[in-house]
Amino acid sequence: MTHFTDKVAVVTGAGSGIGRALSVELARRGARLAICDVDTHGLAETEALVRQAGAEVKADPLDVSQRELVLAYADDVAAHFGRVNLVFNNAGIAFTGDVEEMSFKDIDRVMDVDFWGVVNGTKAFLPHLVESGDGHVINISSIFGLFAVPTQSAYNAAKFAVRGFTEALRQEMVRDQRPVKVTCVHPGGIKTNIALNAQQVEGRDHDKLASSFDKLARTSPEKAAKVILKGVENDRARVLIGADAWVLDAFVRLTGSGYQRAVTAFSKRSGL
Ligand code: NAP
Repeated sequence: MTHFTDKVAVVTGAGSGIGRALSVELARRGARLAICDVDTHGLAETEALVRQAGAEVKADPLDVSQRELVLAYADDVAAHFGRVNLVFNNAGIAFTGDVEEMSFKDIDRVMDVDFWGVVNGTKAFLPHLVESGDGHVINISSIFGLFAVPTQSAYNAAKFAVRGFTEALRQEMVRDQRPVKVTCVHPGGIKTNIALNAQQVEGRDHDKLASSFDKLARTSPEKAAKVILKGVENDRARVLIGADAWVLDAFVRLTGSGYQRAVTAFSKRSGL
């Protein structure tokens, strides 16, 4: 018997990376899974892994930025399983470019998936989580929700917004004694496909960006999933993943806005 036995858990962006690792780990711990992704091929692979781990699973294609579809999906999942206990709003994309180079469309796309996708998932499932009497919302932000770096303004904006939205929601649930816990997750560099699949403004070298990310990312998605689930078990408000996340969080706390000088110097030196 684990904390997750028989709980109904929803994972968005389950076709790859952290979402896949979370789905498999939840399956191993006895949860019943509703998994979704825009990448139907990756989703089918995760579905097979979850079944292998012995869990009941419902897999559906879903674009989290499509609000009406997310609302319908939440009702469908609740009707299928009879209840919903955990929602991991994990789906996300990356984009690289300076503010001067990016179009409004580029910024909209990142905000639509990385911010509005989280809001859509949270709002759509919240009534079902309350009804379960034992709910938990887990929203995936980033260390880029704790500090900003050049070329990541849209991603930074989305991830800071996820943090603010999630922390306010947690306080509301506690204040009103609602039966829903809330956790905000800030991963450091996790070895996933996010940089490989990322888009960037014209003129940026995609391969250089992806290989730099690969060098910096130190934590496996499987380890990340375990850290997230430990944070969920312990009802943590904030979960940091990886030594990089802990060090950078401490650095920002110590230096205040002064961290920006160090980040700008690193960006100049590395050309990132
Ligand atoms: P990943 O391996 O690329 O997995 C993300 C999954 O989400 C992919 O299958 C992707 O499909 C899917 N997705 C993209 N847009 C979607 C949409 N609109 N609706 C539904 N699914 C969508 O990335 P990851 O690294 O595991 O990222 C998971 C979360 O962690 C993201 O929110 C990310 O921002 C956050 N994060 C990651 C890191 C890191 O270092 N990896 C660090 C901090 C935070 P496609 O492949 O087709 O796009």
